[in-house]
Amino acid sequence: MNALFEFAWIVVLYMVVSRVFGKILQARVTTSKKDENRADGLEQRMDLAEEIRTHRENIVEVVKDECCGAYVPKDKAYQIVDEDGNTHYFCGWDCRQKYVLENK
Ligand SMILES: [Zn+2]
Repeated sequence: MNALFEFAWIVVLYMVVSRVFGKILQARVTTSKKDENRADGLEQRMDLAEEIRTHRENIVEVVKDECCGAYVPKDKAYQIVDEDGNTHYFCGWDCRQKYVLENK
């Protein structure tokens, strides 16, 4: 009786496991068959785009606003070049004006 129960349990377990695995395998096969090349190419391109974006973010120079202390991307910052040839960066026109008034 006990052995029979064990056997039945193993059979049920086997059926459940094989069914779950079968479904996973089937899902994989169908998705990879659908757009085998396209999905891979797209994924690779996405990865590359992501990599380029992160690299670009790292490359972008950030400057400090001397008026309010904010950090601004250099290409978006307002600039003043003083008599000594030093460039000062600002987050906006207001900060630039403040600096100009304070350093007259
Ligand atoms: Zn500012």
